Parts: sequence; C-alpha cells; structure tokens
Amino acid sequence: MTELKGKIAIITGATAGIGRETAKLFAKEGCNLILTGRRENRLLELKEELEHGHGVSVSIHAFDISSRFACEEFVSSIPEEFREIGILVNNAGVGRGMDKLHEGSMDDWEEMIDTNVKGLLYITRLIAPGMVKRNIGHIINVGSIAGQEVYPGGNIYCASKYAVHAISQALRMELVDTSLRVTEIAPGMVETEFSVVRFHGDKERANNVYKGLDPLTGADIADLIIFAASRPAHVQINEVIVMPTAQATATIAHRKG
Ligand code: NAP
Repeated sequence: MTELKGKIAIITGATAGIGRETAKLFAKEGCNLILTGRRENRLLELKEELEHGHGVSVSIHAFDISSRFACEEFVSSIPEEFREIGILVNNAGVGRGMDKLHEGSMDDWEEMIDTNVKGLLYITRLIAPGMVKRNIGHIINVGSIAGQEVYPGGNIYCASKYAVHAISQALRMELVDTSLRVTEIAPGMVETEFSVVRFHGDKERANNVYKGLDPLTGADIADLIIFAASRPAHVQINEVIVMPTAQATATIAHRKG
C-alpha cells in the first residue's frame, strides 16, 4: 500500500459530485488538500468541514479552469507548504446539451472543450513538472465511458472525453521512465449535478437520466480514485471503466417500471 497520510492532493472541481466526495475521502485518509472550482462559498464550506472533521490542511482556490491565465495564477498562488504535490485529480468537467451536431450550440461546444480538454491540459502542464522533478506523483484523470464509445447527442462531450483518454495514454507513455503514475477513471452514469448542468437547469430532464435504475454515486467513484492512489508504488492502474449494474453501454440500460 502507498501511505496517503500527509500527502498533498489537488482535486479540481471539488465543489460538487465526484470531486467533493473525493476530497472527503482523501481528507479521511489524512491528506492535505488543494481544492478548486468556481463556487467559492462551497469551497469555504468544504474547507471548514474537512479541517475540523479530519485535522488536515486545505487550501482553496476559486477560478475558472477554462482560462489559461486563471490556471497560471492559481498555480503561482499555491502556498509554499502545499507545493510538493503528490496527487493530481483532474476531475473538473462539464457536459452541455444533447443536440445533434448539426443543430448544436457552439457556446456549449466551447465550454466543454475549454473545460474538459484545455483546462485539464493547463493544470497538468503546470503541475506535472514539479512531480517529474521530484520523481514522484500520481495523475488521475476523470474521463468517461463517453471517452470509450460515442452515442447520439454525445458528439462534442464524447470528443472531449476521447481527448482525455488520448491525453492519459500519451502521458503514461511519456512518463514511463519516471516513477509517476497515470490513471484514467471512466464512469458511466453517476448521479451528481452533471445532468442538471448538462440540461441547463432542467431538473426533470436531469432526473429522467437516472429514472428506474440505481446510478453510481460520487462516493463510488471517489472510492476507486482512493484505491488507485493507495496501490503500492510499482502498481499503476491504467484505466478503470465502471458503470451501474443496470447499465451495459452508453446506450443500453435496464430500467424498472
Ligand atoms: P458535477 O457535480 O456537475 O461537478 C462538476 C465539477 O466541475 C464542479 O465542482 C464544478 O465546479 C467543476 N467545474 C465545471 N466547470 C468548471 C470550470 N469552468 N472551472 C472550474 N471548475 C469547473 O459533475 P460530476 O459528475 O461530479 O463531474 C465530475 C467529472 O466526472 C467530470 O469531468 C465529468 O465529465 C465526469 N463524469 C461524470 C459522469 C456522470 O454521469 N456524472 C460520468 C462520467 C464522467 P464549479 O461549478 O463550482 O466551477
């Protein structure tokens, strides 16, 4: 086992869903955390909860990950005592819309590509050099089954998650002569704020995504992230594809009633 206690982990997109649950589990393991997202009030609440509940130190940074400038500012503002980062969880991401490509919103496309691809790239480019220099670190990218198979209406979201898959594979090849590890977690349906965001606040439409089946939870994915991070140093979990038991592919699910 790799001891997690005392390690420093960055989790992007920690204000909701998978990222928030991952922050809670890392704190329970005794990790000090750097947490990001745009909603500062949520970051403040989480910092308070984790510092008091687990006696760890939490540094919070509210910024838009799709802005290269904001990412650069974030990394240069990380406090000295948090700089030896051991784990980077690239989790922040967004789905927008389910329109056919020829009817799609270019604003939605830009948000998905700028957040899911460029945001992940900026943070990785800025954090990985320190890991390479210290020859220790673990980069965990939250991809999706949408990065393994395409579905109608998924077009640009799928393209962005195929990019996460490609980037994860390239990183693993390029870092093979270091002690760094690269893991991609590719979930199917997870009930978080994801679908509400995807359908621009339409809660009824979002609820229908999970209707009649038991979806995964943010905590289920956090569990896998912790599992990957805590393997012995010589064990690299390359990819985990995980779905609810009632889901077989991006388009096949069994719903009761
Ligand atoms: P969520 O509950 O909507 O959480 C998304 C997180 O990303 C939030 O903390 C959000 O923070 C952050 N984020 C989004 N855009 C951002 C931006 N421009 N700048 C900074 N932070 C941003 O969704 P989730 O399901 O936990 O999603 C987490 C990851 O899992 C995503 O990469 C998603 O693609 C992936 N995933 C989800 C599912 C699913 O079914 N839910 C399945 C497969 C993969 P703020 O809004 O505060 O900025």
